[in-house]
Amino acid sequence: MKININGWLSGVRRIASANYDLRPAGAKIELLVIHNISLPPDQFGGPGIAKFFTNQLDHAAHPYFEQLKGVKVSSHFLIRRDGGVIQFVPCRGRAWHAGVSSWQGRTRCNDFSIGIELEGSDFVPFTERQYAALVRLTRYLQRFYPIRNIAGHSDIAPGRKTDPGPYFDWAGYRAALAGQR
Ligand SMILES: [Zn+2]
Repeated sequence: MKININGWLSGVRRIASANYDLRPAGAKIELLVIHNISLPPDQFGGPGIAKFFTNQLDHAAHPYFEQLKGVKVSSHFLIRRDGGVIQFVPCRGRAWHAGVSSWQGRTRCNDFSIGIELEGSDFVPFTERQYAALVRLTRYLQRFYPIRNIAGHSDIAPGRKTDPGPYFDWAGYRAALAGQR
């Protein structure tokens, strides 16, 4: 992988989303936020997430999609069930993944974070390929940005968000990052 000045990774599939803006002047990327998403909920492998992040979701295609009308969100990265990585927003940009959030007393986590979505849900385990891709991506991003912490969406928006959920293997992920697995 390589990374350009705007934070687009080469060797990673790119589906550009318009759902981002500029980080505040001087903002550093200090936090990774781990999420899960599936569209429709608990269904994997379809185009729903990419369409949602690019404002192309057919809201008539599934009853759940109705409530997503007008919702403009994104994440920098999505890791699919097969470990495939898609980048939607350049890391230099402020993706709209965290919403109302707070980390160690600092609000507006989008300002200083990178969002990584895992295709999944709160109800099933993630795949080994996803963990492998996540560890590789995390290590890579840590080389270029002063990332000090990794949090779940539920950690920065408690009571409002539950992802990445109880199946996310924090211990295994952190051990892998530390080279212990
Ligand atoms: Zn989330």
